[in-house]
Amino acid sequence: VPVVRAQSFPDYIPDAKFYKVEAILRPWRVSQVSSALLKIGIRGVTVSDVRGFGAQGGLAERQGGSEFSEDKFVAKVKMEIVVSKEQVEAVIQKIIEEARTGEIGDGKVFVVPVSDVIRVRTGERGEQAERMTGGRSDMTSA
Ligand code: ATP
Ligand code: GLN
Repeated sequence: VPVVRAQSFPDYIPDAKFYKVEAILRPWRVSQVSSALLKIGIRGVTVSDVRGFGAQGGLAERQGGSEFSEDKFVAKVKMEIVVSKEQVEAVIQKIIEEARTGEIGDGKVFVVPVSDVIRVRTGERGEQAERMTGGRSDMTSA
C-alpha cells in the first residue's frame, strides 16, 4: 500500500498537555498497530471491541467468502492511547501506516484533549502519571 502522510496540523485546540488518540480500526490490523506502537515506546494502550457505521455501511469485513452482518454495524476495534502533546503526531502517523489498506473501512482517528492523568497505584498526577518507565520519552531522551 502506498504510504500516506497525515496532513500537517497547525496546532491542537484546545491546548492541553495530554491528548487521547482514539482510533477506530479494522480488528485484524490491531495487533500489527499495537506492536508497531510498542516499538516506538508507546506501551499504554486500551482496546475495546466496538461496532460502527460509516461509509463502509453494513458490509461485513470480507473474510474469505462474502459474509454479511445481521445488522448494519461493522465490527471494529477502538484503540485509546493517551500521550503527551509532542507524541501525538508520531502515534497518528504510526497508526495510519500500519492500519491502512486503502479500502473503504480503514477507520478514523480522533484527537481529544485530556485534562489530567492519575496513576491509581501511586496517586501521581500529570506528567509523572503519564510517563511510563522505558516508554517513548525515555527512548527519545536517551
Ligand atoms: P502501574 O505502574 O501502577 O502499573 P501503569 O501506568 O503501568 O501503572 P496500569 O495500571 O498498568 O498503568 O494500566 C492499567 C490500564 O490502563 C492498562 O491496561 C491500559 O488499559 C490503561 N492505560 C494505561 N496507560 C494508558 C495510556 N497512556 N493510554 C491508554 N490506556 C492506558
Ligand atoms: N508518554 C509516555 C512516555 O513517553 C508513553 C505514553 C503511552 O505509552 N501511552 O513514557
